[in-house]
Amino acid sequence: MVIEKWSPVTGEKLGEFPITSGEDVEAAVARARAAAPGWRETALECRLDILMKAKAIIIDEGSEIARKISEDTGKPLVDSLMTELMQVPLFLDYYAKTAKKVLSRRRVRTPILFPGKASYIEHYPVGVVAVISPWNFPFQLAVVPMFSALIAGNCVLLKPSEVTPITGMLIDELVSRLDLPEGVCQVLHGDGSTGAALTRADVDKIFFTGSVATGKKVMKAAAEKPIPVELELGGKDAMIVCHDAPLKRAAKAAVWGGLINCGQMCTSVERLFVVESIYEAFKRELDREVAKIKVGGPDEDADMGPITFPPQLETIERHVRDAIEKGATLLRGGKRIERDGQFYEPTVIEGIEPGMEIYDEETFGPVLPIIKVRDEEEALRMANQHKYGLTGSVWTRDRKRGLELASRMECGQAMVNDVVLSVGNPVLPFGGVKASGFGRYHGPEGLLSFTHQKAIMVERAILESEPFWFPYRGKLPTMQKIFTHLLEGNLPGAVVNLLKLRG
Ligand code: NDP
Repeated sequence: MVIEKWSPVTGEKLGEFPITSGEDVEAAVARARAAAPGWRETALECRLDILMKAKAIIIDEGSEIARKISEDTGKPLVDSLMTELMQVPLFLDYYAKTAKKVLSRRRVRTPILFPGKASYIEHYPVGVVAVISPWNFPFQLAVVPMFSALIAGNCVLLKPSEVTPITGMLIDELVSRLDLPEGVCQVLHGDGSTGAALTRADVDKIFFTGSVATGKKVMKAAAEKPIPVELELGGKDAMIVCHDAPLKRAAKAAVWGGLINCGQMCTSVERLFVVESIYEAFKRELDREVAKIKVGGPDEDADMGPITFPPQLETIERHVRDAIEKGATLLRGGKRIERDGQFYEPTVIEGIEPGMEIYDEETFGPVLPIIKVRDEEEALRMANQHKYGLTGSVWTRDRKRGLELASRMECGQAMVNDVVLSVGNPVLPFGGVKASGFGRYHGPEGLLSFTHQKAIMVERAILESEPFWFPYRGKLPTMQKIFTHLLEGNLPGAVVNLLKLRG
């Protein structure tokens, strides 16, 4: 059995790729487990030195790597460069600067009730981490968590998506050039069966990015052991356009945020709430901007490429059809483009409401559904009354009000007068709430989430015994005094009695 890869741009066959069997997955996990103690003991500076070589390779060979990612996905070369490749050196640089502080042991205050003790918090790697990644950003959504886990001292098994096997091979080649010790980082090419085998294997944590349906299976497999799992799932992100929004910027942002990567993005603008007082003016601006979008393959200098995964086209068509049947109005687009490959028109649709698939479910395509609302409060209420909660944005010239509305959005990241970009900011934690998943990566959390936190307390005086230890005989009256002082908030009284017991 092999994976057959077809071009989303031309429909031609691009090649055949291997599927790692369950047995080979287990052998790879055993190699990772054998390598784990050595990698964990390798000094952080040394781990970073090895991994930073990836930055040099990406800088030297970026154009060629971007071309391969675009061949695999069909996305414009600009997208491959800016949203896939650029992320990786940005994150490597950020962690090179911050990892030591984030991962170091730190001393914390010890309450006075614990005289003679010192308290510390430290982190150690979880061990062997499975990273399972999707096809929409097949490079950065695989490589950023992979490098984060490696920097934190873990061994990694990466399972890329069968939909984008060319990028999977590319990552494998990149890893093989990093002079990593045997077994520390392995790429397991394959399909869903390889992913499932990996979740059943002897790993210590699963970091999963993908759909809710597969996420549930992954979590179930993790629950069997049990081991920690982090789920980065879908979204139905809201953009709230207020009465005083900068209209031109908001319209351009909606079009970019909704159509970038042909809408195949977890943080796409998928629900566009527009306040009625500016609704018509905004719609005119939006239409002007969508009309400018050029669709085509990576060699056609286009803004928007094809749908990468063929079944996704059917989902998009079904959502648009269902919305129209239930009363929505198509303003632009709404069908496949007659040419080779899997192209769909940039689409704008209004009259969208809950109960339509296009409102309730993730569409993951180049479709901008507009929803007219009375005011910002109605927009916020509707934005929050949804099963997903990944990102969101608020558009207003009143920055204070924008920040207030952003704070009240139920999601993992929110922006004021901007879209999508915060996900690329290495300092900010990223992740969802509700059905969009849980756990955070990027920022300090991007390292900490691949570690176990450990609390350490050290007795410095090394007395022969402790006040609370046996024997209890004769201690009860003093213990009662300590108890009463504590309840009354009389800490010094409690400590004095405690010291009496300590002798
Ligand atoms: P899928 O859930 O279909 O696949 C994700 C990964 O899981 C793939 O590598 C897939 O392999 C693998 N897989 C499939 N079956 C299993 C299984 N039983 N056990 C373990 N792994 C398995 O998602 P898509 O690839 O279609 O990605 C699109 C989804 O990802 C969208 O919902 C999108 O919103 C979400 N996403 C979320 C992001 C976030 O950060 N929150 C970012 C980007 C996307 P294979 O493909 O080979 O079948």
